[in-house]
Amino acid sequence: MLHDALLYDELDDGNVQCKLCAHRCQIKAGNRGICRVRENREGKLYTLVYGNLISKNIDPIEKKPLYHFYPGSTSFSIATPGCNFRCDWCQNWQISQMPRLMSLQIGQRLMPDAIVNLALEEGCQSISYTYTEPTIFFEYSFDTAKLAQSAGLKNVYVTNGFMTSEMLDMLHPYLDAANVDIKAFRDESYRKWMGGRLQPVLDSCRKMKLLGIWLEITTLIVPDMNDDPEELRALANYIYQKLGAETPWHLSRFYPQYQMIDSNPTEESILYKTKEMAESLGLSYVYIGNVFGKDSTNCKTCGNVLITRSGYSVNVTGIDAIGVCKKCGTLFDGVI
Ligand code: SF4
Repeated sequence: MLHDALLYDELDDGNVQCKLCAHRCQIKAGNRGICRVRENREGKLYTLVYGNLISKNIDPIEKKPLYHFYPGSTSFSIATPGCNFRCDWCQNWQISQMPRLMSLQIGQRLMPDAIVNLALEEGCQSISYTYTEPTIFFEYSFDTAKLAQSAGLKNVYVTNGFMTSEMLDMLHPYLDAANVDIKAFRDESYRKWMGGRLQPVLDSCRKMKLLGIWLEITTLIVPDMNDDPEELRALANYIYQKLGAETPWHLSRFYPQYQMIDSNPTEESILYKTKEMAESLGLSYVYIGNVFGKDSTNCKTCGNVLITRSGYSVNVTGIDAIGVCKKCGTLFDGVI
């Protein structure tokens, strides 16, 4: 279904410039942008994925991952096809790269009001725009987020952070939390592996913090791509210095996928060493993901266990009704 796009400029000669993500594609009439889901038709930009739901699930919020945002709640999670990156290790490549690898597939037609109704019926506390890159289905997520907020639901973006500042300006009144994937800490890695750039991602993270959006960071540690200890140290230091010690950092284990099916999984020891390094630099909450096991969130002041997790079974045991540690009264970093 064609739907008018937001955030673009009409240029001379029927060209348009999209302002949704940092690619800022200039698109000639009849062509599509890098994401393949925005098309210039006779000098106007249209999104091809509005209402085109390719995936929907009721997920634990911890699966996003968000460990400090309504822990133990469920999030109605949706995606359309498409992405503005092209990572070789993408775990959702069948839907994220679909518009590049084959023709754009049509999923289930579901309009924003129906999504909100389903989320409410299922008892979810939030709607997550996830699995593929939500920036490229901005109009669909924006309309859904507005309705969701009116209905008392929260909105969550799980994103590569490559959106523009203009896009965040529009979305932020409706956006409550985000998990941003900082995939590497070298610009050349972004250019080589993702077809993107590092700085716009960092700018989005800073801006989200300034706007008061609850932010957690994820880094999938991929062998020979971003597992250099010095690079990981520089990233940890950036999070500490620029985003704050209270920003959770999820270190996720890579498993062979897509174009990297012949690679080895990340050695678990690298994850644990990185966690130790980041904590020694001062980060309060560093978590290891894609490794089954138990973990917890502890009070940064007294060490009291606040939340325990075993798989997706979550118990909030150490935080009282007003959101402080039951033992020492320190305010919980996050949203309860
Ligand atoms: S969303 Fe990004 S990749 Fe897609 S057309 Fe716009 S600027 Fe290009």
